[in-house]
Amino acid sequence: MERIGTAKRTKEIIGKYDFYFRKKFGQNFLIDPHVLGKIVDSADITEDDLVIEIGPGIGALTQFIAERAGKVVCIEIDRDLIPILKEDTLSEFDNIDIINEDVLKVDLDEVMKEYGKGKKVKVMGNLPYYITTPIVMGLLEKGYDVESITVMVQKEVADRMKSGPGTKDYGALSVAVQYYTEPYLVANVPPNCFMPRPNVDSAVINLKVNKNKNIKVLDEKTFFKTVKAGFTQRRKTLMNSIKNSGLFAMTKEEILEVIVESGFDERIRGEKLNLEDFGRLSDSIYKKINKE
Ligand code: SAM
Repeated sequence: MERIGTAKRTKEIIGKYDFYFRKKFGQNFLIDPHVLGKIVDSADITEDDLVIEIGPGIGALTQFIAERAGKVVCIEIDRDLIPILKEDTLSEFDNIDIINEDVLKVDLDEVMKEYGKGKKVKVMGNLPYYITTPIVMGLLEKGYDVESITVMVQKEVADRMKSGPGTKDYGALSVAVQYYTEPYLVANVPPNCFMPRPNVDSAVINLKVNKNKNIKVLDEKTFFKTVKAGFTQRRKTLMNSIKNSGLFAMTKEEILEVIVESGFDERIRGEKLNLEDFGRLSDSIYKKINKE
């Protein structure tokens, strides 16, 4: 089957349908079959899988996915792309359904109920960069029964997701992603693999979701507030960062107490804490606030 994701075929399709790329939808289509193959290989797709693809574009990645998955459901916001996908590029497949919606408004539990039928669910996509974090964090926070998320994101975002303490990229997003998943960097992808070329470097990241979470905490809300507070002022001490975040109604003395109780030096910075450290600190804060 002729590949959709090449420069030649992409030009033909957009010419035939008089399609104009929309910047506001983050439309940069993949035109490198080698990269497309690598993304699909890394997601380890089988006949037993339902793959939910976010933003199929003209179907370059969808074609690769549909050759391996039992079922593919694509969610695409741009209605101009729907006839191209249905009547042309993906018309030969009988295992693909296309939903014309904003992914942020779709209840994925409903999608899984309707199309899943006992299948394992994997989410994939070459994401629109303007909403990468809401998409990924939304999937994780809502606790959907998803086995893995394999997505193309801005390289800088991939670096933040996988970094640990002591690196410049480490921050609240790193801790949150690593609370729910095991991130693995699949490949760095340069701008010339897309049409039109984005003005940033990209990377494919695979997030293997741990349904039981990677650490146990007393209260998730307190945990995420603690992480946010710990990175509010990364150049200051953890104590000042938490105090100045205004996220907890605690005095300086109380904050210092929980920091020391959790086993840290009182001058430590938030960026030095790893996932387990944040878990311990958030449990101490939770106990202090609830007078346990
Ligand atoms: N998967 C295609 C590829 O790799 O060539 C296209 C990727 S392009 C970077 C992002 C796609 O996401 C576009 O097709 C765009 O229209 C779609 N998109 C943007 N915002 C969306 C949203 N909120 N919900 C669903 N799709 C969206």
